[in-house]
Amino acid sequence: MTTASPSDSTDQNAQPGLARLRAAFNQGRTRPLEWRYQQLDALSRFITEQENRIIDALRSDLGKPSLEAYVAEIAYCQSEIRWMRKHLKAWAAPEKVPTPLIWQPGRSRICREPLGVVLIIAPWNYPFQLLIAPLTGAIAAGNCVLAKPSEIAPATSRLLAEELPRYLDPDTVHVVEGGVDETTALLNNRFDHIFYTGNGEVGRVILQAAAKHLTPVTLELGGKCPCIVDQDADLDVAARRILWGKFYNAGQTCVAPDYVLAHEAIENRLIEKMRAALISFYGDDPQKSADFGRIVNARHHRRLCRLLAGGEVAAGGVTDEQSLYFAPTILRKVAADAPVMSEEVFGPILPVLTFRTTDDAVAFVNERPKPLALYVFADDTRRALSIIERTSSGGATINHTWVHLAVPSLPFGGVGESGMGAYHGRASFETFSHKKSLLLKPTFPDPAILYPPYDEGKRRWLRRLL
Ligand code: NAD
Repeated sequence: MTTASPSDSTDQNAQPGLARLRAAFNQGRTRPLEWRYQQLDALSRFITEQENRIIDALRSDLGKPSLEAYVAEIAYCQSEIRWMRKHLKAWAAPEKVPTPLIWQPGRSRICREPLGVVLIIAPWNYPFQLLIAPLTGAIAAGNCVLAKPSEIAPATSRLLAEELPRYLDPDTVHVVEGGVDETTALLNNRFDHIFYTGNGEVGRVILQAAAKHLTPVTLELGGKCPCIVDQDADLDVAARRILWGKFYNAGQTCVAPDYVLAHEAIENRLIEKMRAALISFYGDDPQKSADFGRIVNARHHRRLCRLLAGGEVAAGGVTDEQSLYFAPTILRKVAADAPVMSEEVFGPILPVLTFRTTDDAVAFVNERPKPLALYVFADDTRRALSIIERTSSGGATINHTWVHLAVPSLPFGGVGESGMGAYHGRASFETFSHKKSLLLKPTFPDPAILYPPYDEGKRRWLRRLL
């Protein structure tokens, strides 16, 4: 049973919304499947009815092209809700598991129960999807949710704070807006789970805060996702798919290919094909293209300008802080210790480095923190798989970039520095559920074999049965 401790009540005074959530959870409001289906339907209705406002907010926050907003934020969330609705009943049903002879007669079950009140902290780059997708899983699993959108995407944050309580049961979902101070205050409270998406530095702050209350945590972090292009790859397709994955949302995507490791024999040809693909995507002047986004703010724009040093510009390189425009840029002749290789790029700069053997490429990846995703372009699938098997990453795609995350039956999450835990589809439901073990025993028979006094006969039987 979840009960409030005295320290909780002090903090809840600062957060009346949280007290309401705790009360609703303790009353069992969120447990019935019927309530969960209703809330999922309401969430879906919110997205449908407010679609234009959501797209406008994303344009205001990130200059997000409307098709990118539709695909990665609106349609993605709707499909996650549909998937959840379709499978919820089966996932929530008690799972029968075998009971060994010694404990017979008896029936063993794994029961999924909601965790309680969970905190979801979202970042600014996909500010809608990265709040709504975990919220979908938390609701499906029967939890109450305190959601904290990113202050760096203020229009989306405002919209979520205004509209979610109008569509969802306000006693069970509460939105708190704010930045570091507000989130720090929130973290003083006890939650039953914290789901954080953002950078690893803040991830460490979250883990420390969670430790105070022994709260389990999911950390969806970032890192440098490598994209290995082998010499037998289809370079036309590779060029297009790498650029699409990289320059979507102006490169501000956690799973964007951070850098390319190209086999030295095809580096020149790949760069030529990427130059041609850039023009076919955005025309001669990407600044005039409605299909290329903007950098979220001047601080990030300046950070990206600093990363331009240390490579030769093969395409792009034009920047304009006033309009937050940063051209889709390809850098070549980049040293492994150049500034652009020392941190996650998280913007439209694509450094291209080379390798001689696949062993070298594998060693390069393994010498660095484990990435959130790894991409291999190669015609020989066995070779591509062997690269994936010899490296560690949250997920991987062969011959494309980041589309694995849109497959609802695949869990999405990092490993090592790129995060802990996973979500999407069933993984979300499991993340926000506790697996409770249940053994149902009849009172008859009640053999004395386990009870004292212990004798040689009981010992012999137990040695046979256990
Ligand atoms: P951000 O600045 O919006 O921060 C994320 C959240 O943390 C916000 O809600 C913010 O208010 C909160 N926050 C910031 N500082 C805090 C502090 N000191 N204490 C408590 N809370 C704090 O976003 P960001 O971190 O710049 O996001 C970009 C990073 O997130 C990149 O590294 C990217 O790779 C990663 N990311 C990961 C995923 C994923 O699914 N794994 C998705 C998107 C982004």
